[in-house]
Amino acid sequence: MAAYVINRTIRSERFESGSTNADLCRKAAVVNTVYLDHNATTPVDPRVLEKMLPYFTMHFGNPSSASHAWGWAAKAAVDLAREQTASCIGASPDEIIFTSGATESIQIAIQGVFNSYCGKRKQVITAATEHSAVLGACRHLENQGAVVDVLPVLTDGTMDLQHLRNSLSEETLLVCIMKANHETGVIHPMRAISDMVHDTGALLFSDITQTIGKTTVDVQEDGIDLCCLSAHKFYGPKGAGALYIRRKDPRVNLTGFQEGGGQEKGLRSGTLNVPGVVGMGAAAELVHREAWDWQYHCSILRSRLEQGFLDTGIVSVNGNTRDRLSNTTNICFRGKSAGELIGGTPGIGVSMGSACSSQSGRPSHVLKAMGLSDQDAQASIRFSVGKDTRPEDIDRALAAYSRALSR
Ligand SMILES: *Cc1c(COP(=O)(O)O)cnc(C)c1O
Repeated sequence: MAAYVINRTIRSERFESGSTNADLCRKAAVVNTVYLDHNATTPVDPRVLEKMLPYFTMHFGNPSSASHAWGWAAKAAVDLAREQTASCIGASPDEIIFTSGATESIQIAIQGVFNSYCGKRKQVITAATEHSAVLGACRHLENQGAVVDVLPVLTDGTMDLQHLRNSLSEETLLVCIMKANHETGVIHPMRAISDMVHDTGALLFSDITQTIGKTTVDVQEDGIDLCCLSAHKFYGPKGAGALYIRRKDPRVNLTGFQEGGGQEKGLRSGTLNVPGVVGMGAAAELVHREAWDWQYHCSILRSRLEQGFLDTGIVSVNGNTRDRLSNTTNICFRGKSAGELIGGTPGIGVSMGSACSSQSGRPSHVLKAMGLSDQDAQASIRFSVGKDTRPEDIDRALAAYSRALSR
């Protein structure tokens, strides 16, 4: 059935300006499907797509071509996108470089800080619930002489601040702690963390990929020195991301490792993905204007879903539910198999964890770090609603799960 839905979707996909994602999806789907995996990726908002299209065809210039109008048009679009992207996190445009996504931004940031400052300090601190891109980048530094500490978290997924304080030292170069977790939605107190980190003279990198449009982020208020964004997590296109690099108080210097044309301050050589960059800027602009409405909408639907599950009396919610992204809930169906539940509800798009780890079949490292047994981790499912999710979608998902659970 899934293949049938996908084939129909691809064949009937046609862009009509003015239609919303929900309209497009409704038209395409022949069976009633419900997408509740917005933390894995989101559809491109049709208003974003509309802004991108001319940059594939009419304005196809290379923004590095300084000698003609084609290049200037592309450069102007990139400049605007840089302003839009910067302003959605309280940064200034000259603190943003464009990349292919969060994963690339993470590598440039973590490797770049280490290359630039490793003569002085050698310790890198991160947490066990970080995204695999961050954990991998930190582990990679160990081969180069870094001392990497991966801190445990409390059972509700929040940082153990006392443990962090005890781990910081004169040797600490970089601390990598995300603002919000992709699997549980748990939000960490960035200001308390950054104050601690800065007291020891270290830098703070934060993976804020999941926060855009779901909670407020401000690099000044949060005290973030470097952070990564990915457009496809907030209704922009895939393959477009950004890295924020603080320019003052303190000025952060990165040493690049990619040789080439020297684009993006020499940190990310290669011709920019102009349509992607334009799309990320347009998506950031939507966040700026509409995120409050999205958050309100998502929190109501998330509650409806979560309460529906809790009413069955057989589930529990993983992670702290007080400081949490507005759209995410991670539910443990104790004694059940998440894989079988997902298989038994083919029209409902959800996952057991991050999209990356769902391929490995291993229990989520995030849930394991929170002390869940293998069995409970493999009984847990992440549900993430989006701005276009409707109340009927929630009710349909609950009904499908109710049928699957009673089997
Ligand atoms: C999705 C995600 C990433 C990876 O983003 P890409 O743009 O797909 O590379 C990194 N960190 C978090 C928290 C994410 O949710």
